[in-house]
Amino acid sequence: MLLAYHAALLDGLREPTAAEPLRVLVSGCLAGRPCGVDGSDYGLGGALTGLLELPALRAFPFCPEQHALGTPRTTPDIHGGDGVDVIAGRAKVLDEHRVDLTAEMIDGARAMLAFAKEHRVELAILTDMSAACGSQVISDGCRLVKERRFQKGVGVATALLLEAGVPVASQRDLRTLGLLRARLDRGYIGAPDARDHHEHPWTLEHLPGPHPRR
Ligand code: SF4
Repeated sequence: MLLAYHAALLDGLREPTAAEPLRVLVSGCLAGRPCGVDGSDYGLGGALTGLLELPALRAFPFCPEQHALGTPRTTPDIHGGDGVDVIAGRAKVLDEHRVDLTAEMIDGARAMLAFAKEHRVELAILTDMSAACGSQVISDGCRLVKERRFQKGVGVATALLLEAGVPVASQRDLRTLGLLRARLDRGYIGAPDARDHHEHPWTLEHLPGPHPRR
């Protein structure tokens, strides 16, 4: 399930400690790894500062695209649906040259799921807008066009993780991440006006309506 729509799942988490920290799968770029298509971390390495350093959390970073396609690489985006549709064979992943990367993206997603199972992760925090790691919003077709289109939906790796029962939040789900941090750090008080990605004014304006995978 997507944690942003099911915050009660946080209440069901076990009480982690420094000795037995919460095991969290994290997109490689969110952990500062230079695994983006251009060999950077997209400037996201500090996005979870404060959370990933908590003694009661252990991060397990992984990049499904780097695993399957290497870095640097061309830019994959989903055409004709979202990650669930890709897994079901109803949609494809193409790069900006219209090269079909569907099989590689599914391989990368399977590798991320295997990594998650190997480390018995309890939830995942993944980079939104990615064709692999997206969870709230992804591109609708190629992003490298004059007018990029968006859709509510999940990436290919996120689809497999959700199917396997791993709860997923995005780095833009600030309300949910604040609640998570408050569970792990009892002295933490989150911003009262923190919003998740689907509650942001941009999302409300451009992508009204329910998330198809909530
Ligand atoms: S596939 Fe995921 S981990 Fe890798 S660069 Fe893209 S968003 Fe980051």
